[in-house]
Parts: sequence; structure tokens; C-alpha cells
Amino acid sequence: MPETFILRNAAIPKSLLANSIGSEGAAREAEILIRDLEISDKLITAIAAPGVINATDGVKVKDLSNRIVLPGFIDSHVHLDKAFTWDRAPNVRGEFWDAIDLLSKDRFNWTTEDLYRRGDFALRCAESHGTVAMRTHLDVGRDFGENSYEAMRALSERWSGRIQLQTVSLCGIELYMEPIGQEIAEKSLNFPKALLGGMPQMGPNLDAELDYFFDLAAELGLGVDLHVDENGLAEAECVRRIAKTILKKDFSLPVTCGHVCSLAIQDESRANSTIDLIKEAGVQIVSLPMCNMYLQDRREAKDSARATPRWRGVTLLHELETAGVPLACASDNVRDAFYAWGDFDMFEVLVQSIRIAHLDMKLNAATRMVTSGPADIMGLEGMGRVEEGSDARLVVFDSRSFNELLARPAQKRELIGFHSEAKETPDYEELQH
Ligand SMILES: [Zn+2]
Repeated sequence: MPETFILRNAAIPKSLLANSIGSEGAAREAEILIRDLEISDKLITAIAAPGVINATDGVKVKDLSNRIVLPGFIDSHVHLDKAFTWDRAPNVRGEFWDAIDLLSKDRFNWTTEDLYRRGDFALRCAESHGTVAMRTHLDVGRDFGENSYEAMRALSERWSGRIQLQTVSLCGIELYMEPIGQEIAEKSLNFPKALLGGMPQMGPNLDAELDYFFDLAAELGLGVDLHVDENGLAEAECVRRIAKTILKKDFSLPVTCGHVCSLAIQDESRANSTIDLIKEAGVQIVSLPMCNMYLQDRREAKDSARATPRWRGVTLLHELETAGVPLACASDNVRDAFYAWGDFDMFEVLVQSIRIAHLDMKLNAATRMVTSGPADIMGLEGMGRVEEGSDARLVVFDSRSFNELLARPAQKRELIGFHSEAKETPDYEELQH
């Protein structure tokens, strides 16, 4: 017999309920609906107005007293191979290219055992905060990457049924044009949910590199997830060139672009025309607000003193959302040279994204960006929303409104339907051994 229980008076953001994408703005506090949920065998089996679902004999009932309920979070862009390396590779200037350099040196410590240990710690953090699926990029190159895939395969097995993992190969996309590139791409095929990734850079060969890369992805039947325009240079327009390549080739597999920071400092009409191309090409965008604000606009004053940043580093989330582009916000790096802090906590990502990008004007859209948005981007059915037939792992907060939710980010949260080990966030002490 499946275990069945009823949750009464769950406060659910309207955008996460089926067929109820609501208007944003003025009435945002009213954009939460109170519903009762019936849960059976780890799935939501019924959703109704309060009091409508009858509790038959022996069925447990829990009253959530109008507390906010979100589905298990989906973290669509992380770097498990780099996480928790801060102590041995700290980024004292906080610069992007320093981070690349520091981690390319730390890579010599990346044994399969080291990767597994840090990755497992990361997944335990994530699950304890309510995450159910994750897409991780993995650095790969001429003579490395095998250890990372091996560690991820072991983690994927250990975490089966708890956190669903996807992997993305990450290197300069010009590398795919070399003989080793085919090997790198094929290596990723050994992971069941793999995508082809990389970091395109502006330059005279970009179009040729993108042509080759998208042909290779099509040939191997792999979706694509790229690190794009992660800088404050208005002339960085890789996302525009990617959209044009997709349209030219009629590339039909899913394409995600992460970061896209430079779009935010471009001329308005140019940015708008790029957004039109992004929409037309079906490109999905993942913003990494915490990491982007941390790394972008690091300024030097006279004599190498540091100066105050002048822009926030995030892409045009409002404009992309208005255009109907599929969107997500995600963790990106955690306690490594790219981002000193973080804990794979998607509630922190939600709160910080709302504050950094003024998404308080679009609270329901913001909530979608850490739940149903990334679920769609990752092709996860029955996750990231509160619908009949969807995953019944839920995160319950001690708040009855978005205002209460955002005002007290350190509040208690209760996980429902998660593994019993999810109750504890692991102790940092473990990383010392
Ligand atoms: Zn990244």
C-alpha cells in the first residue's frame, strides 16, 4: 500500500500551480493561493481548495497553517568539480581571470577521491536546503576530465532518487576542432544525462568555432549549455552569434546560455534586437546573480587600491522575462576562486536574485526561476511545480507571505518527503580531513 497523507492549508505561489500563471505586480501578495494537497507514493495526487479533499480513515493530515510551500528546488548551473576549494586556492583580488588561473593550478589536486568527497559534501548541502536536481559543468581538456566524470558517475549512483544529476563538458570551444575535441565530446556521452558545453570567446574564428561546435552537438545528439559573455564588455556578443548559428543551422536540440552579463551594458536597441534573436532561436538563459555580482566590475583605483563597483553584473532578467525567454537563476560556484561563499542553497539564490535584480516587481516569475524554469531547461518532467502527478518533495517555510519570506532569509524551513539524511547540513569540519 502506498503511503498517503494530506497537507492542509499550503500557501502556494500561483505561478507554480497548473494553468494559473497570473498577472505580476500590484496584487503580488495575493498571488499566493491556499490549497490542500493529497500525497501518495511520493507524488502529488490531488490539489484542491481547503476542505475539499476528504481524509479517509487512517490517512494522516498535517495542517500547514497557510505557510508558504515550494516544490523541491532545481539548480541548473553549478560546478561540483571546483566547489569547496577556497581554503587551498583563495582568490585574494576577486578577479575572473585570477580565478581561472588559480583553479587551473588547483586542478592537480583533483583526484577522483577528492572530487567525490567535495561533490558528495556539495550534494548533502544542496539536499539539506531542498534541492532535487542539479546540472554541473565539468572542466575537461587535453589531459584531464576523466577523474571528474568518474566521480560524477559514482555520485550519480549514490544520489539516485535523491538528486538527479546532469553533466556538461566545459572547455574553450576551439578545442572541439582539434582531434582531442571529439574524444572530449565522446567522453561526455558516457554520462547518461550529458550536454556539450564550453566557453566561446569573441574573436575572428568565433563563427567557424560555433559552426563546428553545433555540428558536433547535432551529430552526437547532445543538447548544449555554454558559458557566454561573462564580462562587462559591450562588444562581447557571443550570445547573438550563438542565436544566429542556431537559426542558420536550424539546430533543434535544447540550447542554454549561462551568464550573458554583457547584454546588460549594451545600447538599448542593440540589446533588444539580441533578445529578439534569443527568443526566435529558442535559447534558454541561466543567470548566476550571486557569482556575477561578486566577479563583475572589480575595479582598481590608484596604486592598486580597490574601488566601488558601478554595476551589478547580472543580465537583463526583466527584459528577457517580458520577451518570454525561458529563464533560471542558479548557484554557479560555491566556496571557490570564482565565488567565495554560497552553500548550494537555492532559497539563498532566490532571495539574493530578487534583491540584486529587483525581481520584487515579479515575485511569481522569480519563484519560477528556481523551480519550474530550470526544470523545463533541464527537461525534467514532474519537477519544479505543484501539480497533480508531480514530485511531492516540498519545502515549507515559516512565512505566510512573500514579504515575510524575503524579510527573514535565515528562517526555519521544513522538508517534506525528502530522504531522512536531508535533515542535516554537513559540518565544514568534514572538509578538513
Ligand atoms: Zn559557471
